[in-house]
Amino acid sequence: MPVDLNTSVPHSARIYDFLLGGKDNFEADRQAAAAIVESSPSLPISMRANRQYMARVAHYLAAERGIRQFLDIGTGLPTSPNLHEVVQSVDAASRIVYVDNDPIVLVHARALLTSAPQGTTAYIDADLRDVEAILTSPEVRQNLDPAEPVSISLIAVLQFITDEAEAHAIIDGLLAPFPPGSTLSISTVTAHNLQAVEAAAVYRARGIPAKERTDDEVRALFRGLELVDPGVVLVNRWRPDAEAEAIEDTHVQMSGGVAVKN
Ligand code: SAH
Repeated sequence: MPVDLNTSVPHSARIYDFLLGGKDNFEADRQAAAAIVESSPSLPISMRANRQYMARVAHYLAAERGIRQFLDIGTGLPTSPNLHEVVQSVDAASRIVYVDNDPIVLVHARALLTSAPQGTTAYIDADLRDVEAILTSPEVRQNLDPAEPVSISLIAVLQFITDEAEAHAIIDGLLAPFPPGSTLSISTVTAHNLQAVEAAAVYRARGIPAKERTDDEVRALFRGLELVDPGVVLVNRWRPDAEAEAIEDTHVQMSGGVAVKN
């Protein structure tokens, strides 16, 4: 079946790609991105800070917690380093399943499937609201052993799930089959930054439901889990390296954290 990219309406993955300097975007996406940047000039810096956060979290989980299985939902367009590159640099036998619902990410999924030969990477075209479809997919069943801990990551995607009860149900459902020691990593748009609040409003005005969350609301997404230090913070403040330390808080529109299932 041919993929329908529906390029006349803006899409979050392609807006994000444009703001990160990518080429996989169309006029409607660029117009939406321009409107967002007008009200939120620091967004491109924030997106890079978020991407670096993803990489630091992935490295931490692989190197310091020994996680070897990863389920990354809302993967986005391939941007180096991708999660599998980070974790397979720690252990080449790591197994990664990526999930996204944007057809353009599907078109580029080949670039996500460049696994080290000792490990595997797989891609599922699915909506994160359909937890059942994700968990029962052959990709998950074949690659993620439910006897071993799994890292579930929802990086820069939960802002598009605007109902708290739905977000909680998704998270509970995703973690349910996996054992203690499994982890949840989140980043999402923060309410503690005026530009972030305005950016979310521009997404909504362009027909993409989006919401900002306070740190208390983000903490609530981790209910029943144990947050690792430093808890829920702006993404540049999560176990920063020199690059993250150079980023000013006022430019960062995402907060997040990592928690462990006990
Ligand atoms: N995690 C990546 C990309 C974030 S952009 C990073 O942080 O760099 C958000 C991604 O979530 C986009 O690729 C978009 O297509 C995807 N997305 C948005 N809503 C989704 C949904 N309901 N189900 C699955 N993916 C979704």
